[in-house]
Amino acid sequence: MEKRIYVDNSATTPVSEKALAAMMPYFRENFGNPSAIYRYGQEAKKALEDSRRMAATAIGALNNELYFTSGGSESDNWAIHSIGETKKSKGNHIISSAIEHNAVLRTLEKLQKQGYEVTLLNPDKYGQITAEQLKKAIRDDTIFISIMMANNVVGTVLPIKELCTVAHEHGIVFHTDAVQAVAHLPIKVHELGVDLLSMSAHKFHGPKGVGALYVKLQCKLPPYLTGGGQEKGYRSGTENIPGIVGMASAIGEATEDMPEKIKKITANRDKLIENILKIPGAYLTGDPVNRLPGLASFVFDGIKESVFLVNNLNEAGICASSGSACSASSKEASHVLTALGYDDKIARSALRISLSEYNTEEEIDVIINKMPAIIEELRLGERHSNSSTRNLGNDLFIV
Ligand SMILES: *Cc1c(COP(=O)(O)O)cnc(C)c1O
Repeated sequence: MEKRIYVDNSATTPVSEKALAAMMPYFRENFGNPSAIYRYGQEAKKALEDSRRMAATAIGALNNELYFTSGGSESDNWAIHSIGETKKSKGNHIISSAIEHNAVLRTLEKLQKQGYEVTLLNPDKYGQITAEQLKKAIRDDTIFISIMMANNVVGTVLPIKELCTVAHEHGIVFHTDAVQAVAHLPIKVHELGVDLLSMSAHKFHGPKGVGALYVKLQCKLPPYLTGGGQEKGYRSGTENIPGIVGMASAIGEATEDMPEKIKKITANRDKLIENILKIPGAYLTGDPVNRLPGLASFVFDGIKESVFLVNNLNEAGICASSGSACSASSKEASHVLTALGYDDKIARSALRISLSEYNTEEEIDVIINKMPAIIEELRLGERHSNSSTRNLGNDLFIV
């Protein structure tokens, strides 16, 4: 079989060779429980704290500001759930955005049911939210703001420093879901000023099922998981040492020579965008300037369901996505594109191509060469549209 081209790195990434090698000893030789006082335990404990130092350093945090979790979803859940408790006396109003990941949106819905009020800011057509807009939404009873650093569907990078400054001018705690941004963009948490920041290892060539929540030293959270008192009592549960070691290794690797990596990935992304936009009726979604180095996202006239497009690309050996992994098999338009003002019809034609440093320019050329015919073929199919093409539906691409 021909070699597959993997361009769905916003959904997940392969573990880097270095990270995998770093993890291996912690499955068998150094399998100990970090809470144990004999040698196996102490080795694991050392690996845990070395990893914490590495991961914290990579985002400019202090060692004691980083707590390991099971990934981005847990970090988002923790950040959002805990904060209501500490600040309830001041009010119960939360501000977030309409383009957040479901790990944030569904969690907010849960809080809403418990009596919190939630305002979701609508971005402009590029996915941007301004400091002015945030300022207007703030009320006397606003206690918490959560706005993502970079969007996973259209790649827009938001002005988190400015937004956070507005929050702090009003004494409000600020959380950012930086799962798509960490290890992809240079991040110094103390310069950004955020109180809480979520990250996830499998989005930057680390293993799945491990992430972290950055908690600014001055920010006090109640414990999230209770039990044995690990992570200073905030997040109980025997630590996922192999995963944590893999995460630290991957973030270290990603932040090494980051400017060069960004340059290479951005050049590939821009070549891809430039050439795909040559296809008549193809449009870029998200911010044309402030966007993730590796993310190219489009909508197409005359394509009814992008799942067909994703499927035909798959048959051509190209693994891309219709918008986000969580909605890959659903035929609903992405809530992100709808929030950007795309009507339901065109939003359903969305395609996301997300690159990593592993993608070569040759792979980009293959995509550029194959795309026009794949789009044209689908459009022809639509024009002769009868139910026979569309009924192929569900069986084909449940991912
Ligand atoms: C992937 C992702 C998450 C979820 O992270 P997991 O580690 O898969 O739980 C949250 N937010 C954003 C923006 C993401 O891209």
